[in-house]
Amino acid sequence: MKVFKFGGASVKDAAGVKNVAAILKHYHKDEIIVVVSAMGKTTNALEKLARPKNKAEAKQALEEIESYHYKIAEELFADKNANIFAEIKKDIAQLQKNAETESKDYHEHYDQVVSIGEILSTRIVSTYLELEHIKNEWIDAREIICTDDNYRDAKVDFEKTKEKVEAQIIPSLKKSKIVITQGFIGQTPKKKITTLGREGSDYTAAILAYCSSAESVTIWKDVPGVLNADPKWFDNTVKIDHLSYQDAIELAYYGATVIHPKTIKPLQNKNIPLFVKSFVDPAAEGTRIDNENSQLPIPCFIFKVNQVLISVSPKDFSFIVEESLSHIFEILAKHKVKTNVIQNSAINFSLCIDDDADKIPALIKALQEDFRVLYNTKLELVTIRYYDQATVDRVCIDKKILLEHKSRYTVQIVMQNKK
Ligand code: ASP
Ligand code: MG
Repeated sequence: MKVFKFGGASVKDAAGVKNVAAILKHYHKDEIIVVVSAMGKTTNALEKLARPKNKAEAKQALEEIESYHYKIAEELFADKNANIFAEIKKDIAQLQKNAETESKDYHEHYDQVVSIGEILSTRIVSTYLELEHIKNEWIDAREIICTDDNYRDAKVDFEKTKEKVEAQIIPSLKKSKIVITQGFIGQTPKKKITTLGREGSDYTAAILAYCSSAESVTIWKDVPGVLNADPKWFDNTVKIDHLSYQDAIELAYYGATVIHPKTIKPLQNKNIPLFVKSFVDPAAEGTRIDNENSQLPIPCFIFKVNQVLISVSPKDFSFIVEESLSHIFEILAKHKVKTNVIQNSAINFSLCIDDDADKIPALIKALQEDFRVLYNTKLELVTIRYYDQATVDRVCIDKKILLEHKSRYTVQIVMQNKK
């Protein structure tokens, strides 16, 4: 049995959904758990709806989400009285209700709203497959993925999730061969919806593979596989044919957006290979990620923009010691902020993080209560795995370096454009 994951880009329009059906037809002999993300940029629109600037923006976001899904459904289903239209309407009504329900905790509210994107996308995909005579069962991931209540980055209870997979998904696979379910979402024991973090559908695929002991996971992407750099930022990228779990987890951790960082661990733990393949060219080889160790033949670049470099020092010129470090990390954890690079000196602790309007102002305020805090915004962070000096020099042209961190295989450089 296999697990497939189709991301937002693969189902961004009616043609995308048809393409998913074509790929699944090709694998008609296999039992497949199919994990689908929200369509296109729906999650971004839902984020707006979760925290609208005003009522007009909320109304507009909801209307856009509704008409976008309707339009895709209209292109896929000729019968305008088909049940799917009523289902979309019901989901949109639920979404509106969730968005209008006030909550003391913004993160909790966010998850009740943002999770609906995956519900909508899987309904459309599942119904379209039926129309194409691809037997499948729609399964609600909220009933399967059991999590705690750490909203927006919920922790999965693998034991309980495994029980649910065995009780619900495995029998459905036996019956229908294909199960369609949502990525990204789960549920607390009190039946509150949770999410696993942005781009978390890859992680869902890995969780389900782990819990069902699948033979492999395939992530279908709009790129030919894992590349040595993001073509958005770099020319002449090269596809990597094979990656070890170790390199994959390092690259994902540093911000290579091709795989969600949490995806690798469950797969490594059960030695399940991960394939990254192109949904545009499904017959092409792609990238295989497994436990075979191999050093990458070329440097890999990970480029992140919109970075903030924060420098924290004790107010009384005392050393940065274990207590102050642990206090800093407590504050980071409380604000759910993850660091991309950290470095410390005698009286100074520097951290580079993604700028996030939801989190960073509050974090800086909290740090300022106990420390002297300086920060720079609008920075870039480049990470090079398997670096050499020539590649370092190349990326630093016309840049001012604010921080550099080197280990044996990896260099990380925080930099600013020279004006
Ligand atoms: N739809 C979610 C997001 O855009 C999850 C995912 O795509 O993996 O973040
Ligand atoms: Mg996505």
